[in-house]
Amino acid sequence: MRNNFLLLCGLLLSGMAVAQVATNDPAKQAVNTSIDAQYSSLTELSDKIWSFEEVAFQEAQSAQALMDYAEAQGFKITKNIGDMPTAFTAEFGSGKPVIGILGEFDALPGLSQNTVPYKDPLHEGGAGHGCGHNLFGVASLGAATAIKQMIERGELKGTIRFYGTPAEEKFFGKLWMIRAGAFEDVDVVMDWHPSGETKVGMQTGLALVDFMVEYYGQAAHAAGDPWNGRDASDALELYASGINYYREHVKPTVRIHYDIQKAGEVVNVVPDYARMWTRVRDGKRDGLVEVWKQVEKIAEGAALMANVDYKITLISGVHEVLVNETGAKAMQKNLEALGAISYTEEEQDYAKKIQEATNKPQVGIESVISPLEKTAEFPMGGSTDVGDVSYVVPVIRLRATTAPKGTPWHSWAVVACGGMSIGHKGMRHASKILAMTMVDLYKDPKLVSDIQAEFKEDIGDYEYKGILPDGPPPVGVKK
Ligand SMILES: [Zn+2]
Repeated sequence: MRNNFLLLCGLLLSGMAVAQVATNDPAKQAVNTSIDAQYSSLTELSDKIWSFEEVAFQEAQSAQALMDYAEAQGFKITKNIGDMPTAFTAEFGSGKPVIGILGEFDALPGLSQNTVPYKDPLHEGGAGHGCGHNLFGVASLGAATAIKQMIERGELKGTIRFYGTPAEEKFFGKLWMIRAGAFEDVDVVMDWHPSGETKVGMQTGLALVDFMVEYYGQAAHAAGDPWNGRDASDALELYASGINYYREHVKPTVRIHYDIQKAGEVVNVVPDYARMWTRVRDGKRDGLVEVWKQVEKIAEGAALMANVDYKITLISGVHEVLVNETGAKAMQKNLEALGAISYTEEEQDYAKKIQEATNKPQVGIESVISPLEKTAEFPMGGSTDVGDVSYVVPVIRLRATTAPKGTPWHSWAVVACGGMSIGHKGMRHASKILAMTMVDLYKDPKLVSDIQAEFKEDIGDYEYKGILPDGPPPVGVKK
């Protein structure tokens, strides 16, 4: 009680709005104190990455900023993992358990935005952190630092390893980190994601595959001698039509998206080249493969009809997330002990303005934590390369509120919130829950072995193989 009281006084004195610190564990109190002490540096670091607004595989300054912070804290840095200049690890300690924690930091193109609650690009046409990854990497590194300090003082034993994981929004950098063996000796991996709510991650998301379809025809004058032309764009249109007819006959969990990247240059030339980025998703990898193969057949059929040549190139793909319930339950206890994030009137005002600007009910930002959910039978939502990590090592996941409920994700509104106090508070909260849960993992070997036992049972005899082509990662590809 006395420790709680002192900690609470400390927090009040430093002006921090924390709802509740109902933990009697001195180690958990210590990591929370460390994160509060780091808060201004973490905020500065997150704002820096927010302003760098670097997209997939171009996150040189963001990765460097995280590495600089880690190095200053005494972590040992390993760079260029899997031949990706922006992939790195920061490690401290020795021996078992080895606990990993993931940190992403890439932005999304076209979402540049100021920290105001209405659309106002910071740089016209620039990128922005519409998924909150400026907060993601920093919160994880803050938690890793808190644990590192405990290991250094001899209060916890083992190894802490922060994974700087690039290009989550495109290409899926973790796949090449896995292939490089970066997760081979880890016992448990921690992960979180910015969100419109605070809850432990129990949902699987969708498996996906990305591939490029290219058509090669023959150019001709569009009016002079069109009969000599073989039109690559015709094939592309037929391919898209085929996909759209096929949509009616796939399961509700399937999603098919495409991005027409090239379809001729001018109207008076029969185009000899066309290109479309295609993405197929489904709830599970097995279902995905079936749809993927059918879409490839449609691509081939379109080439036949248009009398052009074609090429299909695999880009990469991800597994759905394997949920670890034992780990999730342990995290839930810490979430409940820490309580919800509290907000000022100004922040509630800001949240309502965001909701107004994005046509959502103006209910403000939720100051609650969610109970542990059941894993949905029919998964919804996006996909993540954390799915692949969860197929090679058990992963415990969290979502923490960094934007008002209902905020459209991958939008300017998330960028706005992620650069101001609503985002910062979510980052700090995430950092604490991750660190508190890691304390459990270091102190309780049975918890680690139970988590691993559940993982082994779920995996069964499935042999993980990443959906990615041979050869180096596409670090030079911009589009
Ligand atoms: Zn994200």
